[in-house]
Amino acid sequence: MARMLNKVAVITGAASGIGLACVRRFAAEGAQVVGLDLGEPPAEALQGLDPAPLFLRLNVTDEAQTQAVMAEVIARFGRIDALVTAAGIASQGSVTQTDTANWQRMLDIHLNGCMFACKYALPQMVAQRSGSIITFGSIFGLQGCDGNVAYNVAKGGITQLTRSMAIDYGHANVRVNGLCPGLIDTPMTTMVKEHAEFHAYFASQHMLSRAGQPEEVANVALFLASDEASFVSGQMLAVDGGFSAG
Ligand code: NAD
Repeated sequence: MARMLNKVAVITGAASGIGLACVRRFAAEGAQVVGLDLGEPPAEALQGLDPAPLFLRLNVTDEAQTQAVMAEVIARFGRIDALVTAAGIASQGSVTQTDTANWQRMLDIHLNGCMFACKYALPQMVAQRSGSIITFGSIFGLQGCDGNVAYNVAKGGITQLTRSMAIDYGHANVRVNGLCPGLIDTPMTTMVKEHAEFHAYFASQHMLSRAGQPEEVANVALFLASDEASFVSGQMLAVDGGFSAG
């Protein structure tokens, strides 16, 4: 039986990479998916999905827009069973190399963006006394990495945001977990892939000696969203081919 039948799943960062892989995986398991992003994915990426995903424009840094979009989802579909917050961008730089605007932008998109989406989905989940939120941290949010301070800090913050929400809303049967991917081949990491030597070195740091694919992350997100994970909450789960366990 389809694992997300009659469930409504809202996914941010849904037009590309891991978010898009989640759209496809969740829809293939029967979910009514609502994809939120600045833009839309190519039509062929959604071909054949039933129910057809609905895409709405959202800049996750805009709180008022987020509130309105969540209200629209609830008005149209009556519930939100899963929320995946995958919107994000990459950055580079140590503290002395990071200008304040870039620092602010990283915190806005990753931390505020995740917080706003959760803030306006949670009341519906609490009211229906069920829900699963899947946030996106990173191996860099767990253990850092050189020359990437704004991203590391934003992703570290996601860990605490995830745990805080799991503590605060568990009483209402809302589960909150986060995924910490290793190197995943997506448009975000095209820059890494273009430097073949560095890509090979980074990939070799993963126990499985390779980069991951977005579908491999979406599979774990699907598990956390499904009833199979009914007693899993407050976890940051590394999907990193063993990178962080080394
Ligand atoms: P991606 O670039 O392929 O997709 C990110 C999506 O987020 C894009 O569609 C983009 O339009 C959207 N987005 C960016 N800013 C937005 C905004 N302000 N409002 C709405 N949408 C916005 O990236 P990805 O690799 O699929 O990354 C997904 C998540 O996984 C991110 O949070 C990323 O930090 C995290 N992550 C990725 C990797 C990796 O190696 N790819 C590793 C660890 C964590």
